[in-house]
Order: sequence, then structure tokens, then C-alpha cells
Amino acid sequence: MFTLMGHGVGTDIVIAKAWINIDFTGLEIRHTEITESQTVKEIERLRRSVKMLDKDFRDVSDSFKEFKTGDFDNLLESQRLILNDPLLVLETEKRIQNSLISAECALITQLEYIVEQFSKISNPYFQERKIDVEQIVVQLVKKLNLLDQNKKPKNSHSEITEQVGPGWIFLSDKLSINEIPKFIQHGIKGFALESGSPTSHLATLFKSLEIPAILGLQEHNQLIEHGEKIILDSEYGILLVGADDHVLAEYEERIEKGHEKKQKLKAFISLPCRTKNNIDVRLMANIENPAEANKAMEIGVSGIGLFRTEFLFLERNKILTEDEQFEAYKSVILTLSPLPVVIRTLDLDADKLPSTMFTKFTQDSNPALGQRGIRFSLENTDFFRAQIQAILRASEYGNVKIMLPLITEKEEIIKARQLIDQSVNFVSKIRQINPKPPCVGAMIEVPSAAIAIDSLIPHIDFASLGTNDLMQYTLAIDRTNSKVSHLYNPEHPAVKFLIETVIKTCINKSCPVSICGELANDIQQTRNFLKMGLREVSINVGDLLKMKEQISRIEI
Ligand code: PEP
Ligand code: MG
Repeated sequence: MFTLMGHGVGTDIVIAKAWINIDFTGLEIRHTEITESQTVKEIERLRRSVKMLDKDFRDVSDSFKEFKTGDFDNLLESQRLILNDPLLVLETEKRIQNSLISAECALITQLEYIVEQFSKISNPYFQERKIDVEQIVVQLVKKLNLLDQNKKPKNSHSEITEQVGPGWIFLSDKLSINEIPKFIQHGIKGFALESGSPTSHLATLFKSLEIPAILGLQEHNQLIEHGEKIILDSEYGILLVGADDHVLAEYEERIEKGHEKKQKLKAFISLPCRTKNNIDVRLMANIENPAEANKAMEIGVSGIGLFRTEFLFLERNKILTEDEQFEAYKSVILTLSPLPVVIRTLDLDADKLPSTMFTKFTQDSNPALGQRGIRFSLENTDFFRAQIQAILRASEYGNVKIMLPLITEKEEIIKARQLIDQSVNFVSKIRQINPKPPCVGAMIEVPSAAIAIDSLIPHIDFASLGTNDLMQYTLAIDRTNSKVSHLYNPEHPAVKFLIETVIKTCINKSCPVSICGELANDIQQTRNFLKMGLREVSINVGDLLKMKEQISRIEI
């Protein structure tokens, strides 16, 4: 028996046969020259292949309604945007014309160019987008082959239906987002992919579809046989191969216990979030899109403690207009009303930029210390104003608060508040509505803000501890670098000191305070925070019920 490790997405375990996806991208493109008179025909071939693939995307969306979520729609839309991006299509056409080469050759040459540009940017977001473009080019070349063979394009599901048996675990080096639904529809129970990271779009999709997966899996080439029985443990990110009867029995028992646990947890949906000694805790949800707000409400929350709005931009891979943002915020606010929704303004940085914004902004050499969060918003006030106006318009429909990310000093809050006040006036005049000046809070996620919390409190209506970044900046550990992830230590005296300082100072000065970082997901930590006087935590939707149950068992 041996194990392969990766990043687990989910909590479930699957025992099933391995479907090894071989030669996913193995394309052999011969260098083919054409004459000038053939260019029109070649460009026409390219355009037809783009149309065919675009139709596939739309078909997948239509024929997969039962799995459709807001996330999935956005992800498909982002694939279509890449497919129709002038950088891919128009530039490839130019290559056909200028270099007199076939559509396939021109596509591959253009792909190499795009990949080279993305490779210059060392951040996970662009690495993911590089894979997206590669996948789309592969599919376009397949379409061109189909055109050549004069075959009718197959129904996009039929190839899979002929091949993959239901109830398998799908293993591959990489997979494009739009292909996942057809595998799931055909009964694939889990995915183990060498590509992807916990912050990738793939992870978002698997989470929202509630399909167990492992991303960033160690290379499995030649190690696992097609059809071999394997165990996928999405909680720990482990893939077990060649397990004996004893190990299989242990995992089967864990699966059984997992089902029972989930059933029992449902009893907590209708219960208040309260400790054993009857102290009420406000349990809030962290969300990235409107679909998650519905799930949070079904589970029973006291509100949304963190709406990470930048994910709306990332999922659609574009800059959202004020109206588009308004619709997204309104939908969350209406779902939650009258419960509060804390909308965090854009926390964009080099790790989280839609590629459509890439040419507009230079890349920081050290993104975590660069122009991210509130710094970005104060430098790009058009974006900030559009977002604030969208939030103010949506605030008519419920209870909204605005939260500012990456605050390091009070001047940033003062400037942001001025812009917010101006937006209140602007919206009142232009839209003829009367939004109330909103509550404005700060993420406390940089050591300077935590140490100087006293100086910030007079300028804010509430504070929320972002422990993910607070640990990154206090312990000098890059959040995206797996080589230093073992150095994350919530027990470090400096981390404990900063958190305690913020909680106690806020309580002394009657400033509402909560925690929305991952640390709040750890019951041992939460117990300590509650002992310090904290009464509000905000965590991922998938972990809410477990936390409610754990809180019910502690005494403080
Ligand atoms: C944090 O930094 O703890 C946080 C909640 O925000 P994000 O993870 O989005 O940076
Ligand atoms: Mg943060």
C-alpha cells in the first residue's frame, strides 16, 4: 500500500475504482504552411471551431441544471470569456494571415505566447488562468480535427458516457472546469488532480457541488493502474492505493460514521448557537457569492460576517459594473434580511486580479506587501466609488455594513469614509433614494493595526480580526507558499498577544469585534477567544453546523 498527498477539498471519503485519464493534452501538431489564398478558409475553420466550443459551453450549462449554482454559471462564463478573448481569437487569426500557417499551428504559437506572458507572473491565480487557456486551446484543436474529418460533432456527453463507468474516481493531471459536470452527471464520485490549489477556481467549484476532491496531487503517472480500487480522503487530502481488507474496513467505518455525524448535525439547524453554560454566540458566515448566502440561511446563521466581494470579479474574470455588483449585493441582502451582511470592499491584489485588469495595473514584485486591499481602492477611486454606490443602492433592501480590508493606519479609514460620504450624497441625488450612512468597520489583519487598535477605534463602527493575514504578516509566512505553511502557529506568543490586545481593547471601548479568519474554525482557539470576551465568529458555510455543535459542548 502507498499514499499520495495533495490538498483536500471537502470532508468526505470515497472508495472506488480509479479512472486514469491518459494523454489528456497529448496533441501532435505538425507545422503546416498554407498559401495566401488559403488564409480565408483557414480563418473560417478557426471561427467555426470557436463557435462549436462556445455552443458546447452553453449546452453543458443547459443540460446540467440540477447541479447548476451561481458559482458554476460564473465559471462557465469565465471560460467563454477566455474562448472569445481577442488575445486568443483575433491574434490567432493575425498569425494565420501573417505567418501563413494552419489554424492549429497558429493556435499553438499563440498559446505559447500567452503562456510565456503568464509565466512571468509568479502567483497562483495566473498559473490557474494559464491552465484554463491551455485547456481551451486543446479543445479548439480537437474541434478543428473534427471539422477535418467532416464528422458531425458528438454530443459533448456521449464521449464520456461511452468511456467512463459510473462510481469511479477520476484521476488526471488537469481538467478544465467545463468538463467536470459531464463527469459528475455520469456518476463520477470524486476527483484527484495534479493541478489546482486550495484557492483555485476548481476548489471553489468542487466545494459548491459538494464533490470530494484532491487538488495538487503528487504525480501519479504509472503508479496507479486503471480500474484499481483506491481510497480518496478529501478531509486530509490523501489518496490510498493498494489498501488491504483491514484498511478498507477502517475507511468504510469512517464513511459510515461520517454519514451518521452529518445526520446528527442537522438537529443543530434549529438550535441557537449557545455554549453549555448558556452564553450566546453570534455565528456568522463567510461567503464569496450569492449562492452561498442561501446555503448559510438554510443552516441558520446570525448574518454574513464576511462577504469577500473580489471573488465575484474573479469568477467572472472581469471588472463588474456598478449595476452587476448591485444585483449581486441586493440578492445576498434580500436573502439575509433583516440579518446583517458585512460586505468587504475589494481585497484585490496581484494574487486576485481578473486577467482583464492585468494590463491596467503593473504587478508588484512582492504582492502581499504591495498595493492590495484598501491601498488599491484608495488609488483607484473609480472602482471604489462604483462598489460603494452599488452597496449603498443595495442597502435599501436590508441590513448592510461596509468593511475595509488591510487597514494599517487611521488615515486610510478617514479617506475611505470621505469617499463613502460623497457616494451617499451622489446616490441620493442621482438615484433619488436616501441611503443611510452605513456602519463602516475595519479588518484587523496587519500587526500595525492590531498594535495601534486604540487609534483606529474612534474612526470605526466595528472591527473584525482577519487572522489569516494577521498570522502571515506577524510570522512572515507567505500564505500561498506551501513550503512554509508548517510555520503557521496560532500558539505563537506574538499572535496570541495581538489577538488578545484587539479583543480586550475593543470590548473596553465598546467597539463591536469579531473574528473572520480561519482560526475561528478551530474550537480550541474559539474557546480561548470566547474566554477573552469575544461573542461573534464568522466561518465558512460548510463548517457552520460543526462549529455550532462544538460550541454547544464547551463551557466558558
Ligand atoms: C483573513 O485575512 O483572515 C481574512 C478573513 O481575509 P482573507 O482570507 O480573504 O484575506
Ligand atoms: Mg485578509
